[in-house]
Amino acid sequence: MTKPGESKDNSLEGRKIVLDLGHGGKDAGAVGVGGVLEKNLLLDTGLVVADKLKDAGAKVILTREKDHYLTLEERVEISKKHNPDAFVSLHYDSFYDSTVSGTTVFYHRDGELAESMKLALDDDPSIKSRGAKKALYKVLTNTKSPSVLLELGFITNPSELEIIQSESYHKEVAEAIKNGLLKYFD
Ligand SMILES: [Zn+2]
Repeated sequence: MTKPGESKDNSLEGRKIVLDLGHGGKDAGAVGVGGVLEKNLLLDTGLVVADKLKDAGAKVILTREKDHYLTLEERVEISKKHNPDAFVSLHYDSFYDSTVSGTTVFYHRDGELAESMKLALDDDPSIKSRGAKKALYKVLTNTKSPSVLLELGFITNPSELEIIQSESYHKEVAEAIKNGLLKYFD
């Protein structure tokens, strides 16, 4: 939300973004330290990201706005129906080794969008970037729009989970995604 007196930054004006929040409903996603569920963290993060992009003038379509189950095909269909300028899928990562940490950008066709996102996440001071990697995820291979899947940190790493659960991290991620999109559209 733009506060009175604050200048509104409309740099994503006219851009349409589908923001895909992974998992939901009966699909909890990864289970982190202390039983924290990926699906719930994604909802917290995703709503902050959506507000940030809307504030920058973008039209944002969320694949879910509550704890709701969607198949991968349904997510792909939402993207195809809206034909956005970019499709961004959000996830949190997990691994049996609790020392593994960092953010990763996955892409299939759209290396340029992935590179912009990677550079924007590199600027994020809280969690280091593991880089951009090619992957065959359905939401990347079956969508038609430029698409990336962001793993925003490991919820199986106790110190990283602490960062991930903070509101300040959600704001950092939102800023990084906005900057990544701006760089890509520039
Ligand atoms: Zn996930």
